[in-house]
Amino acid sequence: MRREASRERPPCLCACDGRVLHSQRDDDPREELMGAPDRPTSDSDSEAWWAAVQDHTLNVNTCGSCRRNSLYPRPFCPHCWSEDVTLVPASGHATLYTWTVVHQNAAPFDARLPYVVAMVDLAEGPRMMTVIENCPLDDLQAGLELTVDFRHDDDGFVVPVFTPAGVDR
Ligand SMILES: [Zn+2]
Repeated sequence: MRREASRERPPCLCACDGRVLHSQRDDDPREELMGAPDRPTSDSDSEAWWAAVQDHTLNVNTCGSCRRNSLYPRPFCPHCWSEDVTLVPASGHATLYTWTVVHQNAAPFDARLPYVVAMVDLAEGPRMMTVIENCPLDDLQAGLELTVDFRHDDDGFVVPVFTPAGVDR
């Protein structure tokens, strides 16, 4: 027996169970959450990466052809252009490459001032933009060893951040 046509979208096929990143209905308020100015724009290339973050997994894109890793998530390898790429969990270890301390910003970004925007080098190779938390500003230095952490925002959205390695939180 055929199912009746419906405005509902098909279930998600990725690891996400649809709680945050995917809307199952056209009027789902979660779409507003993803559309907020301080939220990523999730698309077909990045939704699996962000879904894993919601489950506290930081992934990198790894290439089955040249074996190199990359970020941001995309359906090909930026080193050899192979489309044989898959997301694999990263170790969560990184070093600080560069940073800036943001002292002024407009809403909604002003709630966390001052905050540290950084580029970090993951142990797996890719360099990613992130935020450094739980680190005195005077302790920031190039090469600082970092560990990934997962910040739960008030609305339940999980954001990958980095903190100094070996520091109890
Ligand atoms: Zn490659």
